[in-house]
Amino acid sequence: MKVLCKVENELRDEDNKGLVIMDLNIILLGPPGCGKGTQAKMLTEQYKIPQVSTGDILREALKKETAMGLKAKSYMDSGKLVPDEVVIGIIQDRLKQSDCQKGFILDGFPRTVVQAEALDKTLKDMGKKIEHSISIDVDDEELLGRLTGRRTCRSCGAMYHVLFNPSKKEGVCDACSGELYQRDDDKEETISNRLNIYKQQTAPLIDYYKKKDILRLVTGTGKIENIFKRIKDVLK
Ligand code: AMP
Repeated sequence: MKVLCKVENELRDEDNKGLVIMDLNIILLGPPGCGKGTQAKMLTEQYKIPQVSTGDILREALKKETAMGLKAKSYMDSGKLVPDEVVIGIIQDRLKQSDCQKGFILDGFPRTVVQAEALDKTLKDMGKKIEHSISIDVDDEELLGRLTGRRTCRSCGAMYHVLFNPSKKEGVCDACSGELYQRDDDKEETISNRLNIYKQQTAPLIDYYKKKDILRLVTGTGKIENIFKRIKDVLK
């Protein structure tokens, strides 16, 4: 009998003779502040596949003041979703790049059913599909505490928390010495808006992926390493 076991992002026969390499195409779903970005970075390390974050791509475009970045700014600052056609275009371009051909971790995309359907179509045209859609569950009260205390590095995007994961020197990134700042959309007045939008527009994706039988539910509380272990377990 052929039993497959996972070695990084490769699948091998149990006798290790025939090497079967499979794509590892993952979606990380969950409300803002549930830890998608942190877990995506850890998965990138583990499986050597890129993190594809529409939020990071949009922030980078904004920093460079491209037309797309400037268009997205007002939506992002107020915690609203950027129009579907903009983020779908971003993802279609990004997934065609060579580093995504052996797998990828989608972080923050899709966020609406229209985006999920467009993703399915794009992947189908590429002869690919999503293997796992991992929903990270955290309650609202904890999310609020996590988001208001979150600080992000302007240079490398590393994330900290003023209480739970502070940088060694206040306001300075441990990794690259960049400046830490509070994203406008992490301010209290915007957070409840983001959480409402998540419930109305993104949470229906849980059902969408459940119906496709690729939904994996993971509890997103506790130590970061334990959450990571739970995620690796569902990927087995
Ligand atoms: P994030 O870093 O994923 O929390 O995203 C920050 C902001 O970027 C969101 O609040 C939205 O304004 C925008 N954004 C990121 N991803 C998407 C998406 N898939 N659809 C629409 N807007 C998005």
